[in-house]
Amino acid sequence: MLKGYKIRLYPTKEQEKLIWEHIHASRFMWNYMLNVQQENYKNGGKFITDFSMHKMVTPLRKEEKYSWLQNVSIHMLQRTCSDLAEAYKYFFSGQNGYPKYKSKKNAKSAFPASSDNFYFKNNIVHIQKLGKIKYKSDFSFPYGKTCRYYNVRITFKRGKYILSFSKECESQAPKLNESFAGIDLGVKELAVVACNDKKYVFHNINKSKRIKNIQSRLCFYQRCAFRKYEYSKEKNKGQYVKTKNIKKIEKRISDLYARKANILDDYTHKVSKSIVSLLPSKITMENLNVKGMLKNRHLSKSIQEQAFYKFICKMKYKCEWNGIEFVLADRFFPSSKTCSNCGAIKKDLKLSERIFVCPECGFSIDRDYNAAINLMKYTV
Ligand SMILES: [Zn+2]
Repeated sequence: MLKGYKIRLYPTKEQEKLIWEHIHASRFMWNYMLNVQQENYKNGGKFITDFSMHKMVTPLRKEEKYSWLQNVSIHMLQRTCSDLAEAYKYFFSGQNGYPKYKSKKNAKSAFPASSDNFYFKNNIVHIQKLGKIKYKSDFSFPYGKTCRYYNVRITFKRGKYILSFSKECESQAPKLNESFAGIDLGVKELAVVACNDKKYVFHNINKSKRIKNIQSRLCFYQRCAFRKYEYSKEKNKGQYVKTKNIKKIEKRISDLYARKANILDDYTHKVSKSIVSLLPSKITMENLNVKGMLKNRHLSKSIQEQAFYKFICKMKYKCEWNGIEFVLADRFFPSSKTCSNCGAIKKDLKLSERIFVCPECGFSIDRDYNAAINLMKYTV
């Protein structure tokens, strides 16, 4: 099974320069080939395949005009062609729009590195054409060239160089318990878990001081930016000019958004890890009708923020790694409305009812825990 990793790189000044050469060259290659494809199509030609694009790279590098491409790895240029072919594939299948040109301003600063001669040693990672680069990570990787890596990519984001790649891993299946677990997702608490007759509650981190603090600073800067936009429009007769100050505030806003996203991501990783480490043999979650829920204005904000969808994805692959059966309950399974004691269904359950009281048997239980138990007992 392939497992993805992201680690931070600490290149030297010299290596940084080389990384940027690769980023620019990769963008150039993408745009160049996209143009070739478009011209070719206009002249009635068929789509130029991945393989044929690869073959065009070597002669291109020999042209005097493009001799600067010789400074960068040829594998990287060819992998950029493959990326473009992939983008076309998605376009042809209707899953995505037509591939776009990449501009210096809007495109992601990234390039696909070669996985040939890619290996780890002590605290360095060796990457073709870039040499040995320092890195930091909590993961440990096999020493030297004993393992194959895939999809190696370097991205520059918010002042950091990030290396991402995947690696073949043997899934070491731990010994599982016989118990099942059910997870109820919610707005009040992120997740309530029923497992082994026990209740586990994972709080909604959006209500934590840390996130609230970021949120209020975000509001402040957004108001600030709004005033500045208005002022700029007024001053320049409807024409709006991006001043240094506005840019500074916009940077603050995007940094805060990124911080918030990082905290949430880290938190959902931790929560999913602790649920999986209960080691039940089966975990059932609700198949959320997220799109339907977003139409509900009052719920939409917190749902978006909690990014349930990402949480479910994390649960799913972590279950896979550990050999735990992962089940998504049918969207119409009445997990909240069913009594976990006698199975009766309470049709008129209101959202405000935090305690579930069964009209049939009189059993009373916390609403979310009741739902989690029902999911735990769920069978297809
Ligand atoms: Zn009942």
